[in-house]
Amino acid sequence: MASPVGHVGFGLAAAAVVARATGTPDSAALWLGAAVACGIPDVDVAFQLLGLDKHLHRNGSHSLLFAALVIAVALALLKALGVTPAPALAGAWIAALLSHYLLDVITTGPTLGRMGWGIPLLWPLSRRRFWVRHPFLVGDRTESQTYHDTLREMWEDLVRLVPPCALVILLARLWPWG
Ligand SMILES: [Zn+2]
Repeated sequence: MASPVGHVGFGLAAAAVVARATGTPDSAALWLGAAVACGIPDVDVAFQLLGLDKHLHRNGSHSLLFAALVIAVALALLKALGVTPAPALAGAWIAALLSHYLLDVITTGPTLGRMGWGIPLLWPLSRRRFWVRHPFLVGDRTESQTYHDTLREMWEDLVRLVPPCALVILLARLWPWG
């Protein structure tokens, strides 16, 4: 499972690729919206911070149904506020949101997967939890038990996940394609 550091890097890279593909210019709305969107599924860590069962994390909010609800509610809220984002900008934000699920799957290896920490993408239709046999860029992590463990994962994400994401962002924004 990825740390917030990894999610922000991966989410901004996903938004940058979509922004590049749609010709969306740089703006604070693009980057801030993407940074917020890529963290939304982890709102469920609040349960753990409130002292509730840590296994409440990575359930309903890590499903594609929840992602669809977030998109619908966000668009309705923006409309109620009289704000209509350009479809391409909204697309970049949605890419950042969906990147959360992809990164959680590809950074959850067999150790965490067998402990039930894969993510239930198809909930409530299926209880299957998605994880991979060979995590992408990070090691086969186990549960974080302490803040020290969490800080170590953030550091690992910073040195192993963020550099390739930064490279993707740079290429997407600066490379003179076409
Ligand atoms: Zn997550």
